[in-house]
Amino acid sequence: MALRQCRGGTALTAIAVQNVARRFGRFAALTGVDLDIRSGEFLALLGPSGSGKTTLLRILAGLDFADEGAVLFDGEDVSDVPIAQRKVGFVFQQYALFRHMTVADNIAFGLTVRKRRERPSKPEIRARVDELLRLVQLEGLGGRFPAQLSGGQRQRVALARALAVEPRILLLDEPFGALDAKVRKDLRRWLRELHDRVGLTSIFVTHDQEEAIELADRVVVVNHGRIEQVATPQTLYAEPASAFVYDFVGESNQFAVQVEGGGVLRDGRRLPLNAGTTPNGAARLFFRPHDVRVVEDGTGISGRVTHVRPLGAMQRVEAEVAGTDRPLELDLADAAIQPGAAISVLPTRFALFPG
Ligand code: ATP
Repeated sequence: MALRQCRGGTALTAIAVQNVARRFGRFAALTGVDLDIRSGEFLALLGPSGSGKTTLLRILAGLDFADEGAVLFDGEDVSDVPIAQRKVGFVFQQYALFRHMTVADNIAFGLTVRKRRERPSKPEIRARVDELLRLVQLEGLGGRFPAQLSGGQRQRVALARALAVEPRILLLDEPFGALDAKVRKDLRRWLRELHDRVGLTSIFVTHDQEEAIELADRVVVVNHGRIEQVATPQTLYAEPASAFVYDFVGESNQFAVQVEGGGVLRDGRRLPLNAGTTPNGAARLFFRPHDVRVVEDGTGISGRVTHVRPLGAMQRVEAEVAGTDRPLELDLADAAIQPGAAISVLPTRFALFPG
């Protein structure tokens, strides 16, 4: 039945994307994309608007095709296989529910349009729809029309419709994009549970880092049509592989510095930080707001406190620093810090990226 891919059932699908490029005219939407997706994995494609996430998802779906490179499902090259034969389920915003059909008919759609030979019988289809309605927690609503549902319920119907055809892979493009924050949060949790229960290999596109971090086993950060990093949410935050990832995921402070002989110079003054293997020349110094300590000896990065507000047991302190347009953001335990005070800090953990 619909949930044949359940853990312990038949094999799940692993995906390999090999050196994929896609151009629109002279514009390179994707360049040299290599990606291995494990079977049963829940993967997020995260990146700013226009970075190529949807293009990659469409190529995985078979809605679009790469100019170069290959897509493999379980080792089999499906690069030229059209969507109808790929056995993917997808929830894309532009493929909304059919308004003139009931919820049950929407869910059954992919089965009813099959060739007679492959089409399940009417009672089988009805049983599968009931099973899916239970799975997406919409029992009893099969007779309603989409207009009689909330936005969140509609998205769950769209998911049930995608699952009805027993896909090998589930592809989701900003599945909760149009919903309000509270509904989004609830649906996220629900989707994660559903994924764990059904165990399909699932890939979803989002530009919301919180969504990616909360949901995904691994996150693929895409920027300008290239993959910047593929990592678990924890690693992405703790060990960003590039300046872009450091800036895009989580809060950070950053400064232009010079690296010279293993040392770090800011405005010609040496900071007591070890540059490790960063090559000599211009670099950017990054650190998180909570990875700082206040120093009294004047060796730190100095600024003037502009705002202080409580942040749990800490204080979020904003400070103006000469030569930067973004204020320093610091999480400090010292309750005595007041706006107007001079402050000097050093990062306890940081990263340096050339450039
Ligand atoms: P968003 O988060 O805004 O949906 P995205 O990361 O999903 O963005 P894509 O939709 O993959 O980005 O688009 C990547 C780039 O390719 C964009 O600059 C877009 O304008 C361009 N692009 C996408 N499809 C086409 C097309 N059919 N013709 C021309 N350019 C296209």
